[in-house]
Amino acid sequence: MTRNEYDVIIIGGGIIGAATGYYLTKREQRVLLLEKQYLGSGSTGRCIGGIRAQFSTETTIKVAMESVELFRGMEDEFGFSVDWFPSGYLFLAYTEEKRQAFLKILGLQQSLGLDVRFVEPVDIRRRFNYININGVLGGTYCPTDGQADPFFVLKGYMLGMVKGGSNVKTHAEVVGIDHHRSDVFEVAIADGDKFYASKVLNAAGPCSKSIGEMVGIDLLAEPERHESLITEGIEFKAIPMIVDYRPDGCYFVQRTTGQIIGCYTPEVQIPGTDTGSTFEFLTEMPRRIIRLIPALESVAILRQWAGSYTITPDGNPIVDKTDIQGYYVSTAMCGHGFMLGPALGKLMANFMIDDSWPYDMSEFAYKRNYQRDTEVLG
Ligand SMILES: Cc1cc2nc3c(=O)[nH]c(=O)nc-3n(C[C@H](O)[C@H](O)[C@H](O)COP(=O)(O)OP(=O)(O)OC[C@H]3O[C@@H](n4cnc5c(N)ncnc54)[C@H](O)[C@@H]3O)c2cc1C
Repeated sequence: MTRNEYDVIIIGGGIIGAATGYYLTKREQRVLLLEKQYLGSGSTGRCIGGIRAQFSTETTIKVAMESVELFRGMEDEFGFSVDWFPSGYLFLAYTEEKRQAFLKILGLQQSLGLDVRFVEPVDIRRRFNYININGVLGGTYCPTDGQADPFFVLKGYMLGMVKGGSNVKTHAEVVGIDHHRSDVFEVAIADGDKFYASKVLNAAGPCSKSIGEMVGIDLLAEPERHESLITEGIEFKAIPMIVDYRPDGCYFVQRTTGQIIGCYTPEVQIPGTDTGSTFEFLTEMPRRIIRLIPALESVAILRQWAGSYTITPDGNPIVDKTDIQGYYVSTAMCGHGFMLGPALGKLMANFMIDDSWPYDMSEFAYKRNYQRDTEVLG
C-alpha cells in the first residue's frame, strides 16, 4: 500500500465518521478520515449531548441500548472521562393521545430489557419536586439514559484511530470522487491531494447529499436548522433531560457542570445549512424552560448557537451499502446521531467487512419506503 492508499476512506469527522473509523481500525483496517474543518465542526459539536434508549421501534431501541453501554464503558476504553452521566430522560405527556402512545411503546421498550417506567404526575412531583406538573397527564422515565460530552467522545475515537495506524486529516474538504475503475475510488480534496481506497463511507451529515451526488447517488437526506442555548452553572441537582412534547414544548438537561442546555423543535421547519441564531429562540426558549421549572427564572444565559438536523422523510437514518460497489452511507441521524453514533459506528464497521448485520436493520436501509408510518419519539 502506498502513502495515499487505504482500505477505507471516511468522509466526515462527526460522531458517525469517527466512531466508524475507530471500529474499522480495531478490525485492522487502515482508514483515512477526511474532515473539511475540525472534528465536531458539523452537527456533532453543536449537539446538546443527550443519550437515550427510549425509542419507538425495535431496531432503534436495540441500537440505542448498545450505544448506552458503549458510552458507559468509554472512560475505561479511552483512559479518560467523556463526562458520561446517567441523568435519565423524562418524557412528559400533556394529552391523552400522547399518554396512550407512551404506554403503547413502553411494552416494546421493556420487552427489549430497557429499564423504563410509566410515571404518574404524583410520581414526578415526588421525585423531581422542582418540575411544574400543571397539565401533565403522566410520562415515561428511564434512569439509564444520560449525557456525555461530544468533543471528548470524538477525541477518544480519533486517538484510537491514530494509535491503531489510521489517519485523521482535518481541513481536508472532499471535492470529488472518481470511480472510473470499479474496484477503487479516487477521492480528491481541495488542496489537490488524491487518496485511494476500495471502500468509501459517506458520513458527511448535513452535506451527505452532495457527497452522494459525487458518485451519482440521490440521498433523501436534507438538513434543517435547530437552535440551542446554554446557561451559567447552578447547583447540581441532576435535572434529567425533560422532554415536553407540546407544540410549544422543548427539551433540556442539566450538564454535570451545573449548566442547563436545551433546544426546541421549530414548528415550521427551517431547511438548509444556515446555522445562524435568532432573537426569537433566545427569548422563547427561556419562557419554555421556566414554564417547566419556575426556579430557573433568574439563571443567566451564556451562549446560543445553531446546527443541523439531517432528516429523511420517515425520520430514520440511512445506514447501508448502496448500488455502487464499495460505497457506503451512514447519515440522516436527525436529532439522534450523537446517541446512536457509537453503536452505529460499530455496526457499520462490521458490516463493511462482513457484509451482514447482527439483527434486522431494514428500517435504516438505503432502499426502503421512506413514508413515515410509525410513531417516532423524536
Ligand atoms: C442543536 C442540536 C442539538 C442536538 N442534540 C442532540 C442530542 O442531544 N443527542 C443526539 O444524539 N443528537 C443531537 N443532535 C443531533 C446530532 O448532533 C447529529 O445527529 C449528529 O451529530 C450527526 O453526526 P454526523 O457525524 O452524521 O454529522 P456531523 O457531525 O455533521 O459530521 C459530518 C462532518 O462532515 C464534514 N463534511 C461535510 N462535507 C465535507 C466534505 N466535502 N469533505 C470533508 N468533510 C465534510 C462536516 O464538516 C462535518 O464535520 C443535535 C443537533 C443539534 C443541531
